[in-house]
Amino acid sequence: MNHVNFYAGADIDRVGEKRRDTVWFNGLITANEARVLPVWRGKNMVAREPDANGVFQISWVSPEQVAPLVSKDGDVADALYLLGEREDGIYFTVDLSAIDDPLGAWPELDAAFAGLREIGAFVDHADGAMLSYAKGLNHWHSRHPFCSDCGAPTNVGDSGHVRVCSSTDCGVTHFPRTDPAVIMLVHQGDRCILAHNKRNKTPSYSTLAGFVEPGESLEEAVAREVMEEVGVRVGRVTYHSSQPWPFPGNLMLGFHAEALSEDITVDGIELAEARWFDREEVRDAKKNGLILSRPISISRRLLDEWVNETV
Ligand SMILES: [Zn+2]
Repeated sequence: MNHVNFYAGADIDRVGEKRRDTVWFNGLITANEARVLPVWRGKNMVAREPDANGVFQISWVSPEQVAPLVSKDGDVADALYLLGEREDGIYFTVDLSAIDDPLGAWPELDAAFAGLREIGAFVDHADGAMLSYAKGLNHWHSRHPFCSDCGAPTNVGDSGHVRVCSSTDCGVTHFPRTDPAVIMLVHQGDRCILAHNKRNKTPSYSTLAGFVEPGESLEEAVAREVMEEVGVRVGRVTYHSSQPWPFPGNLMLGFHAEALSEDITVDGIELAEARWFDREEVRDAKKNGLILSRPISISRRLLDEWVNETV
C-alpha cells in the first residue's frame, strides 16, 4: 500500500552530504536550472489563477530575479536556502517577509501569495510537498534569529539547514525542528469516534489528535490524548503512516487505536462535540450530510481506510 501522504513525496534529493560545502552551494545558484520558491509571511507563491484543471501551479523565480530584493550588491547566497535537487532542476527557497510587496518587483509574473491551508487541496501532490517543505523551513528560520542557549544572533549554515550561534563563547549549532503530534482513529468493532473541533469553523468531523509531550512514547501520547479529549480508554495502538503538517511546523503521526471503553465525555476545551459513528454512516457521509476532514489530510486517510476495511 502506498503510504505517501499529501505534503510528503517531493521526490527531491536533499543532498545532505554536500550542504556544508559553500563553494558547491554557490555554484548551484548560478546553474541554469536553479529555481526559487518564495515564501512571504507564511504564504507560498503560486499562479494567481488555477489552470484549466483547477490546479494552482507553483510560481517560481530565478536567483537573479530574487537578488535585487534581498541584497544591494546582488549577492543572493545568504538569502537562499537549498531545498535540494530534482530531475527537473535545483530548488531553493527564500523568505521575502521583510518586503511589503515583493510581487511589485515581478509585474511580469501573474502570481500571488496564498495560504497552503487554502490552496493545498488544489495543487499537485509533488508540488504540495515542495510548498510544504519551503514553508516549513522558512518558518523555522524566522523563529530562530537568536540562539536559544545564550541569546546571541545566529547565522545560517549548511546551505540553509542549520543556524549557528555567533557568540565565540557559545557557538551552538541549531537544527531545524519538527514538532511531533499524534493523530488517531479510535474504533471499536464497526464504530469509530469522530469529533468536531472548536477551532474549525466548518461543522466537519475528524479524528482526535494532540501533541506528544516530553518523556512520552507515541503510544502513550495516543492513550493520554484520547482520555483527555473524550474520556475513552484505548488498548492496542497501531501505526499507520505520517504526514508533514507545516501549520506551522508539525509532523503528524497517524494511528488506529482500539477503544476499551464506550462512554464519551467531551473535554469542552478543544472539542465542541464527539460521538460514535457507525461505519455505514461514515461510508455514506455525503448522503447523511456529514462533513468529513479534507481528503488530503491524514485524518481522512485513517478514516477512509478503516471504512473500507483495508487496515
Ligand atoms: Zn549561543
